[in-house]
Amino acid sequence: MAETIYDVAVIGAGPAGTQAAVSASHQMRHVLVLHSGKVSFSRGRAYWSKSVEIEDAPVFPGIIGPHFAKELMKWMESRPVVDFMLGSEKRKTGIEICDGLVQKLTRNGDLFELQASTKTLKQNTPLEVTCFKSRTVVVAAGFDDKWPDIEFEAGEERLYKQYATVFRYAGNKKGWHVCIRCDGHLHVNEHLALLGVGDYIYEAAIGAQDFTDKITILTNGRPHGMSPSVLEQVKARKINIIETEIKRHIGEKTDLLGFEMVDGTELFFHGFLVDEGLIPNTKFLEGWDYQKDEEGLIVANEDMQMLDSNGEPIPGLFAAGDIISGERNLIATAFALGQEAGLSASDSLRRWHFPH
Ligand SMILES: Cc1cc2nc3c(=O)[nH]c(=O)nc-3n(C[C@H](O)[C@H](O)[C@H](O)COP(=O)(O)OP(=O)(O)OC[C@H]3O[C@@H](n4cnc5c(N)ncnc54)[C@H](O)[C@@H]3O)c2cc1C
Repeated sequence: MAETIYDVAVIGAGPAGTQAAVSASHQMRHVLVLHSGKVSFSRGRAYWSKSVEIEDAPVFPGIIGPHFAKELMKWMESRPVVDFMLGSEKRKTGIEICDGLVQKLTRNGDLFELQASTKTLKQNTPLEVTCFKSRTVVVAAGFDDKWPDIEFEAGEERLYKQYATVFRYAGNKKGWHVCIRCDGHLHVNEHLALLGVGDYIYEAAIGAQDFTDKITILTNGRPHGMSPSVLEQVKARKINIIETEIKRHIGEKTDLLGFEMVDGTELFFHGFLVDEGLIPNTKFLEGWDYQKDEEGLIVANEDMQMLDSNGEPIPGLFAAGDIISGERNLIATAFALGQEAGLSASDSLRRWHFPH
C-alpha cells in the first residue's frame, strides 16, 4: 500500500486545531489531526472547565469543558476522508483523527515527519512511536498552566499525580481558576484570592476589578516581588498581600474553601485564581530555528506562518491558538487563528499562485 502523505497535519485538537482541520478539509485537503487526549493526561485548556460553563465561546452556549472537547471531536468526525477526482487527478479530502502525542517534528526534503507516541505511556515499557508524513503542519498544541505548589507530591513521576490535590479543585465553580476573564463573573462582589508574585499578579488584580474589589494576593511563602510603583497602587486599592506559605487546601469534596497556612492560621475565600505562568507545549520543535517570545510562545506572521530568527516565514509551518504570542488566550480567538492557519496551510499547497 502506498504510504500516506497528508496535505496538512494538525498538532492538537483544541478549538484552534479543530478549526484549522475543518477549514483545510473544507478546501478539499487531506488532513491528519494528532491529539494527545487519550495518550497522555494533556487534554487542552478548555477541558479544564470541569463544572464551570463556558459562556463566551461561539455556538456552544453554557457548555462545560469535557463536553466542548467531545463536540469538537464530533465536528471533525463529520468530515471523514473520501476520494475525489480533481480533473484527472485522484485526491483525498477529509479529516483523519489519530491519538498521538507528537514527540518530534523534522523536515525531510519537502515533507514534514511527525513522530508521535500513539499508545498510552506505561511504566517500564518503551514508547510506541509512529511516523506520519505531511506537506504542511499546523502547530495548535497550546500551553499548560503552571499550577501552585500546594500539597505538591515531588516524588511522583507524572504531573497529574504530583498535582492531584490541586487538580481536584481546578476548573470547578468553587475552585482554582486560571482565567479571570473566563470565570470572574462567578465571583461578583465576592472575596477573591489571587496566587502569584511580581508585577504579573497585579495584572490579574487589574482584571479582577471588573468583578470585585475584595482581593487578596497570596504569594505562598515567596517575597511579593512587586516594583515600588505597582506596590503603591496595590496599597491604594486596599489589596491585601499575604506572604505566608500555604500548608494545605481546606475543601469539601471538590469545593475549595480556603487554606491552612504554615503558621496555623486558616484563610477562607469565595474564589481562587492562580497566575504562575505557563509551559508551552512545543517540546517537539526542539532543534528548529523559530521565533518565540520570552514565555516560549510562537511568533507568527499574519498568515499564521512561523518565522525563523531572520524573520523569514518557514515554508509549510503554521501555528494557531493559545500557543501564539500576543493573542488573547480565549476560545473565540483560538477558532479565528485556527481558521487562518488552516486556510493558509491549504493555500500554500495550491498549484498556481499569482505572479510576483
Ligand atoms: C479552566 C479554564 C477555563 C477557561 N474558560 C474559558 C472560557 O470560559 N472562555 C474562553 O473563551 N476561554 C476559556 N479558557 C481558555 C481556552 O480554554 C483556551 O484559550 C483555548 O482552549 C485555547 O485553544 P487551543 O486550541 O489553542 O489550545 P488547547 O485547547 O489547549 O488545545 C491544545 C491541544 O493540543 C494537544 N496537545 C498538546 N501537546 C501535544 C502534542 N505534543 N501532540 C499532540 N497533541 C498535543 C492537547 O491535548 C489539546 O488537545 C479557559 C481555560 C481554562 C484553563
